[in-house]
Amino acid sequence: MQPYSLYLHIPFCVHRCAYCDFNTYASLGDLIEPYTQALVREIAISGHSAQAAFHTALPVHTVFFGGGTPSLLSLDQLGRIISALHQSFDLQPGCELTLEANPGTLSADFMFGLEGLGINRLSLGMQSANPWELKLLERQHNLTDVIQAVSWTRQAGISNINLDLIFGLPYQSVRSWENTLHMAISLQTPHLSLYSLTLEHGTPLANWVNRGLVSEPDGNLAAEMYELSMRILAENGYAQYEISNWARPAAAACRHNLQYWRGYPWLGLGAGAHGYIPGLRTVNILAPAAYIQRLSNTSTSSDPFPLTPATQDQRRLSSQDEQGEYMMMALRLTEAGVADHEFTSRFGISLHSAYSRQIRRLIRKGLIEWTGSGNLRLTYTGRMLGNQVFMEFI
Ligand code: SF4
Repeated sequence: MQPYSLYLHIPFCVHRCAYCDFNTYASLGDLIEPYTQALVREIAISGHSAQAAFHTALPVHTVFFGGGTPSLLSLDQLGRIISALHQSFDLQPGCELTLEANPGTLSADFMFGLEGLGINRLSLGMQSANPWELKLLERQHNLTDVIQAVSWTRQAGISNINLDLIFGLPYQSVRSWENTLHMAISLQTPHLSLYSLTLEHGTPLANWVNRGLVSEPDGNLAAEMYELSMRILAENGYAQYEISNWARPAAAACRHNLQYWRGYPWLGLGAGAHGYIPGLRTVNILAPAAYIQRLSNTSTSSDPFPLTPATQDQRRLSSQDEQGEYMMMALRLTEAGVADHEFTSRFGISLHSAYSRQIRRLIRKGLIEWTGSGNLRLTYTGRMLGNQVFMEFI
């Protein structure tokens, strides 16, 4: 059976950053313990229903603690969640266990503790090396915290580290971005994720821009920064394997995220988490208090796999939906793209037959290309105009 991935959402932060529209909350510290207990229950229920559906423990090869700030949980709380995972699923040898963390929230002891629990990949929200940019974003850490966090993580024996960086900020110059990139490269982590800022409706940053208090980010400058990143990272030995992701060596690619981009199944557990199995998407209830309520005093459930008492929405996917979503996700893989033989074996129709018109049009515009081995992928220009390409497959 194709191994699954698990996404576990931890919706707590010390402070809500000015640009953030994730499902996360500051000042809900009192809910962390009951939330942990609810998450442990949802894991048990999910493992149980998977066992009933497949007559065997579900094989799992990646687990991702995302948020929010998962590093706000104590080692004891994380330990109980990881024990529940081992009891409920068949965690494969070498299973990738990633935890997202904020640099300002860590300590050497905590990192050693994480390693002891089996966490073998850390994703750190560095965002910028520039103190003014971090201030504008209302991030709670500084560059020294990042350097210290990377050092502690390595000392603890976790070498698989990712740094998240963000570009296209108001007032950000190309030179400042270049400096952030070089600082990140100097930390020699095997993985870098680069995101372009999007002003999300309702966030403080979007409101400041709308009211003219902060100048609007410059889209052309952001494109220039992205292009510069592709060049500088290649010069420094990082291979781009996805629109926003680079690895050095290539084997350091994030296996969890590859599961999404390759259209393989995952379970989303925790408040607001999304899941996917062939033919079905699921979404959990959003608010942490409501999530806890749904799982209170529940240790069993009659919901069929992959539903749990926390499931708020489910959407059946037609074969056409699945094909379109597969194209949008797999085309993000800048090197591999979409393999014609893989598409045909999944959907019983070749790429040519399913999308001949769209493919012809996008090739004509120079946004996608065929590789010698029959894979369809973005061109260099297509990487910068990915949304234009993806819209063709909706
Ligand atoms: S730390 Fe991350 S998840 Fe938390 S508020 Fe800031 S951007 Fe959002």
